Amino acid sequence: MIVFDLACDNAHAFEGWFGSSDDFASQQARGLLTCPVCDSAVVAKAPMAPAVPAKGNRAAAASYPVAHEAMPKGFAAAFKALAAAQARALAKSEWVGDRFAAEVRSMHSGETEEKQVHGRATRDDAAALIEEGIAVAPLLVPVQPPEELN
Ligand SMILES: [Zn+2]
Repeated sequence: MIVFDLACDNAHAFEGWFGSSDDFASQQARGLLTCPVCDSAVVAKAPMAPAVPAKGNRAAAASYPVAHEAMPKGFAAAFKALAAAQARALAKSEWVGDRFAAEVRSMHSGETEEKQVHGRATRDDAAALIEEGIAVAPLLVPVQPPEELN
């Protein structure tokens, strides 16, 4: 059994388990490897050096929580289901990026009409919103801002 650090063309990093190096090469060649986050079949071994994303995506420069241990079997499938559930929940939600706190405050005060939005907030912003009685929930799966997709 051999474990490789893999990455997709959207700069998602994940682990792959293979019987051998050849196993990996053959699955990759047949397009059987897909990213658990975005389903992309463009998957390669992650570079050992600091990752330089092919698309020059600045979000990829951020660091992510990582574990030294391998994730248990079934983790990728569970994560995929979670990602799909979040995508369904956000289907009618509008991405407001860094305007998130301002947008939800304005809705809460009745200045603008209520609608589903998601975006970015700092930990302090989120805590302040909750204190103001505004419903805020963390997104469990990272969301690629539309302006950073190409
Ligand atoms: Zn991906």
